Amino acid sequence: MVAEGITDLPLVAGHPVLDLVNTVEPRGDGPPERDHLGSPHDLLVWAGRAGIVGTEEAARVGTAWSADAKAAQHALSVVRDLRETVYGVLVRGAGADPLLGWWRDALGRAELAAAKDHPVEIVVEGDATLVTDRLVLAAADLLTTLDRAALSECPLPEGGCGWLFLDHSRNHSRRWCAMADCGARAKARRLTERRRAVRSGAGPARRRGVPAPDGAGEHRASGARRDT
Ligand SMILES: [Zn+2]
Repeated sequence: MVAEGITDLPLVAGHPVLDLVNTVEPRGDGPPERDHLGSPHDLLVWAGRAGIVGTEEAARVGTAWSADAKAAQHALSVVRDLRETVYGVLVRGAGADPLLGWWRDALGRAELAAAKDHPVEIVVEGDATLVTDRLVLAAADLLTTLDRAALSECPLPEGGCGWLFLDHSRNHSRRWCAMADCGARAKARRLTERRRAVRSGAGPARRRGVPAPDGAGEHRASGARRDT
């Protein structure tokens, strides 16, 4: 996955908190080459795109953050820490302890209000803390309800970006965060490597008259997976 900036960063994970985890490129254990949450403004733009806040709410948060730069930086810092905590829990099996403090803070500001589709819902409304609180509550919800079998990772060792996503396909056959990005690039790279190998005479010996179609070997080697 390669994005120019926060305004065109793809949201492909299937859950806003996983999309938050995917705001760095590549997504791995090491320091990322690119962190798309570079400022409170980036965070607010992303939160609007990810559906964490509506347009009017984003305007209120922006006003609150303009009046209190410290609160804005604190929100950004908590969200970035939340991002790494969730990634650690999901991928490395790390503890969720840091989440507990943010979750209690958010609940301390929350109310139970009548809702349309449920008897009640958890509502948080403080402008300066709105983005943080909603993401923290969404993260707690994700981690307590996630079907582990549905969680997948765009394969870094195979040229993917390490982004996490929910794979609801049959047989969990979705391999890439997005076929049009990582899938297509990995395919092009394999083709280049194969051509290079053939030119240097190091390619795999093939029986005369039985050419293997491009990618056929990988498809067989990776079992039932499809490049979707
Ligand atoms: Zn990817």
